[in-house]
Amino acid sequence: MAIKENLLKIRERISLACAKVNRDPNAITIVAVSKGRTVEQVREALVAGITDIGENRVQEAFLKYNTLYAKRYTLNAIKWHMVGHLQTNKVRDAVKIFDLIQSVDSLRLAEEIDKQAAKINKVQDILIEVKTSPEATKFGLKPEEAAEFLKQIAKFKNINLKGLMTIAPLVDDSEKSRPYFKMLRQLCDEINALNAIRYTLNALSMGMSDDFEVAIAEGATMVRLGRAIFE
Ligand SMILES: *Cc1c(COP(=O)(O)O)cnc(C)c1O
Repeated sequence: MAIKENLLKIRERISLACAKVNRDPNAITIVAVSKGRTVEQVREALVAGITDIGENRVQEAFLKYNTLYAKRYTLNAIKWHMVGHLQTNKVRDAVKIFDLIQSVDSLRLAEEIDKQAAKINKVQDILIEVKTSPEATKFGLKPEEAAEFLKQIAKFKNINLKGLMTIAPLVDDSEKSRPYFKMLRQLCDEINALNAIRYTLNALSMGMSDDFEVAIAEGATMVRLGRAIFE
């Protein structure tokens, strides 16, 4: 199916999911996760109104970034999101193009982002990746570690923490993802209530092609969609 039609359907589904819980659909950012897709497909998504692109490998993101701008495929102001695991040796490149690094999960990584961002006079927006389920991914902080971690990274002047991200486990029924999304939202509320850090967490990145409506019901502000857009 064409990307434009897919997006129309997705927007309808987001509106419906928002209406059920009295939320404003404009408060939901669609991040088009384009790993493995071609530049042409990304361009099609941009033409259809996508403003946020997600990638999980720095090198692939760079290639697309360069091609899109070099060929003037787009003059849109695109926001680039790093959603995959980030190795410290890729950080120097990552801070050059990503507007939001969603997958920060260690002090060492945060430290390196701070250092490399400082070199280019940037304050890098980030999310903390939280492992809400043991089986979903290898990466991410345990929920009980999050509050302490946030205190530790508060000293990094070239990092701006915007919120939390999680990847729910693969399940056959989207309702089964709900507890993980709920857990992330509660963690976010708890941290904000502590008032112990200089940030307010406003962004909740959760929900993918199979479960984004449930994530929206639980408070997602960003949904990361790959297959729903590109297939
Ligand atoms: C691939 C990927 C997505 C998108 O997954 P779909 O199921 O295709 O929507 C979202 N988040 C992350 C971290 C991914 O790697």
